Amino acid sequence: MEPWDVAIVGGGILGTSVSYWVGNQYKGRIAVIEKEPDVAIHTSRRNTGVVHRPFYLDPVKRRVFARSSQTAYGMWKSYASARRLPWAPVTTLEVGTRPEDVKRVEKYYHWGLENGMGEDELEVLDPDGIRKIEPHVRGYGAIWSKTDTAVDYRAFTKSLRTDAEAEGVKFLTGFEVESIKTTGQSVEIFPKNGGEAVRTRFMINCAGGSSLRIAHMQGVGTEYCDLNFRGEYWEVGKEWTYLASRNIYTVAQHPELPFLDPHWIVRADGRREIGPNAVPVAGPYTYSGFFTNPGQALRKVLEQPVANKLALLYNRDFLELAGEEWLSSISKGEMAKRAQEFIPELKVEYLVKPGIAGVRAQVIDRQGNFLKEAIEFEGPMSYHITNYNSPGATGSPAFTAYLVKRLGEGGHFDHLSRTSAKGNGLWDFETVSQKISNA
Ligand SMILES: Cc1cc2nc3c(=O)[nH]c(=O)nc-3n(C[C@H](O)[C@H](O)[C@H](O)COP(=O)(O)OP(=O)(O)OC[C@H]3O[C@@H](n4cnc5c(N)ncnc54)[C@H](O)[C@@H]3O)c2cc1C
Repeated sequence: MEPWDVAIVGGGILGTSVSYWVGNQYKGRIAVIEKEPDVAIHTSRRNTGVVHRPFYLDPVKRRVFARSSQTAYGMWKSYASARRLPWAPVTTLEVGTRPEDVKRVEKYYHWGLENGMGEDELEVLDPDGIRKIEPHVRGYGAIWSKTDTAVDYRAFTKSLRTDAEAEGVKFLTGFEVESIKTTGQSVEIFPKNGGEAVRTRFMINCAGGSSLRIAHMQGVGTEYCDLNFRGEYWEVGKEWTYLASRNIYTVAQHPELPFLDPHWIVRADGRREIGPNAVPVAGPYTYSGFFTNPGQALRKVLEQPVANKLALLYNRDFLELAGEEWLSSISKGEMAKRAQEFIPELKVEYLVKPGIAGVRAQVIDRQGNFLKEAIEFEGPMSYHITNYNSPGATGSPAFTAYLVKRLGEGGHFDHLSRTSAKGNGLWDFETVSQKISNA
């Protein structure tokens, strides 16, 4: 069979958005390879569903994610309205639970403005100000981000799949990539259960929790390893949803590992959830237990490069966490206790059933540091995006326009001709990608 011009591995929100922009900008045979029967079965569905505004992102250290989130906000807003998808502007209160957090809250206000948010979108509150808008919430101070919105990222991804298909992209579902071989002219991608290989002239790896493993298959990113953490949530019973009507986050106590701090989430359908417990697990799809089989845990420990994991033993934040909080926090009671720091009336009995659990694949460098931004590697006839973590779903339509623009400028699509497509008519490729590259 003729090789595909571009094959994208992974039909999460990242791969689906990439495929939309490639199809929108280039004429050619473009495919998305996805192991599941549909898009957004993993992290792009199993997340907290917040369109995060970038007030909490350092404008320098987290520049790309901050700019992507800022740019994508208006894109998602117009998209949800045009496609009649859930859009619930519940807003977010980020609360300081310790006196020293007040300084951080003020910093967030300035970061928000530096990242392009308007003064009318942010407000710093003192303890009385918090009580006035959320009578059951306590804190030494808070920042109120007035445009954070609850959405359904699975619905966004499925709709983007339809848009990508309208641009000629084909979705090859049920194809799990097992191995990859590069020949002179193309990349050959072999499925797990036998069957015909897919050949492509250029591969883009957007395989989420498996993206680093796939990069390693092509001999790139070998200086990094990853660890998987399952974020578990508990649903609050209907009788107690009145405790807060906004998302309530807390100023990170472990800035190096901010995904561990507890929060109260308001879902697009009105449900409230508390989480996360960050449970170390042996694989990216381990949604219950610690591993799917004992061999998996051993393989994860021995997975190369082992030195990065050993270096973790010198990471102070990680050790503090492992020692003080982690092991004790893997219980519903502990989770309720952590949430009582900002909602004192919350009781463990109010957490009535497990909410959705999602797994984050966290990349670690040789020094044992947890990396915060996405990492990109160029491989033979391929490009790899890994560590695409929160707020990745928020930023995806903007980040991917910027990515496709850079790949085009780097000559990776020279075998394709440009379209004059305007696409879904809501987003303009040049405007969006420039907003990020000019920042
Ligand atoms: C608990 C949690 C809460 C979060 N909350 C938010 C939030 O509120 N807001 C926000 O902006 N971000 C949030 N995030 C982050 C966000 O969900 C992710 O950044 C985003 O979903 C990543 O998308 P992805 O396409 O890279 O990954 P995925 O959605 O995991 O997609 C990767 C795809 O690759 C496929 N794949 C993997 N291996 C193979 C293979 N070998 N062959 C073929 N296909 C393969 C998988 O089946 C999958 O469909 C959260 C993350 C977590 C874990």
